[in-house]
Amino acid sequence: MRVSLTEDPLAELPVARELVKRFARPVAPDRPSRTERIPIEVRGGPDGPGGRAVAEVPIGSATWGGREPPRVELRIDGGSDHEAVLSARPSVELVEAEAADGRRIVEALEMLARYPRERVARGLLLGEDALAALGEDGALRARVAATVDRLGGIVRGPGTTLDRLFDLAWRAPRLVVLRPEEELGAGSWERLREFSAAVAGRAPGTLAALEVTRPVEVMGGQRLLAAALDRAGARLPLVLLDAREASGDPRIGLAGRLGGLLVDGLGDAVSAPAGSDPRRMAALLHGVLQAARRRLEKAEFIACPSCGRTLFDLERTTARIQALTAHLKLKIGVMGCVVNGPGEMADADYGYVGWGEGKVALFVGREMVEKDIPSDEAPRRLVELIRSRGDWVDPPGDGPGRS
Ligand code: SF4
Repeated sequence: MRVSLTEDPLAELPVARELVKRFARPVAPDRPSRTERIPIEVRGGPDGPGGRAVAEVPIGSATWGGREPPRVELRIDGGSDHEAVLSARPSVELVEAEAADGRRIVEALEMLARYPRERVARGLLLGEDALAALGEDGALRARVAATVDRLGGIVRGPGTTLDRLFDLAWRAPRLVVLRPEEELGAGSWERLREFSAAVAGRAPGTLAALEVTRPVEVMGGQRLLAAALDRAGARLPLVLLDAREASGDPRIGLAGRLGGLLVDGLGDAVSAPAGSDPRRMAALLHGVLQAARRRLEKAEFIACPSCGRTLFDLERTTARIQALTAHLKLKIGVMGCVVNGPGEMADADYGYVGWGEGKVALFVGREMVEKDIPSDEAPRRLVELIRSRGDWVDPPGDGPGRS
């Protein structure tokens, strides 16, 4: 394990401990048998375009799946602050409310109606009883149809609820959430395969998701579901749902789980449980997509951890460069020395590298274009360089960049 932060090295230890606590002993679902290997493929990789070939599913004014970057969704409940959701930056693309029964459908619709559709798509996720109630109430169906962009159902596997979901002929479901009754374990692979086979021919324009209760099952379970869907020939895009965690920093737990799946090319949307601060959660989900290189919303900084060779105050300089360039969709390397820096930031668009005591060199890609720049001038010169190459845009609502 290597933990590398652009701050005091002592700050790396608590992060390493948290990672060990969460990921050192993953409990993977049992293998189905000794003779059958689960065909999990890693197709994407950090720099790949994304993994599974999936159908396009239009919802509201956006599209999920196909060649689109993963979407960001938030679960909402009665305690959600809708102003906070709407002001989240970068913004979320869908809010989703869950209803367990008929009465809660009305509550969910009232919650969803507070979100303007031109800003965010609305999703309604129905439990078994809610689906039954909807089947019997034409007026309620009309209200749902008028309010909701993505209707989804929660099923425990192939069976009555899945049939009922697809039998709601007035509106094809756009999401099927598999919520197994028991923890994942022996037999999960078979159940996921049965579920995938049941939805395969029926739902070309539907998303799929797996909802587990224990965070430790998130990664293994979703890899298995993706493999089972692929084996059944179901090109359903996958919404990666995280599980509610009792405590701990989501920047480690949630980011580690969803990030691990995303870098392997899995996932066409990411979603987190309701209850967390929506602004922070939206920023975190976008940050995970960015770090997994599945969706660029802002500049990405590749900074070295610093060592005895570092030739300037790396922490302060990185913060200064971030303040100037965070709104650009570029990769920027900030490296303490020229010995190892250019190699460490090899895929950056621009590089800022220590060149000598108090001096900096600037790179475009792998090519050094300026050197011997006094370090207090260098951030401004970096901005000028980016401008001269046509890659600069002014920050939103801020006039010219503060250089
Ligand atoms: S890039 Fe240079 S300064 Fe930074 S950690 Fe590596 S050797 Fe040290």
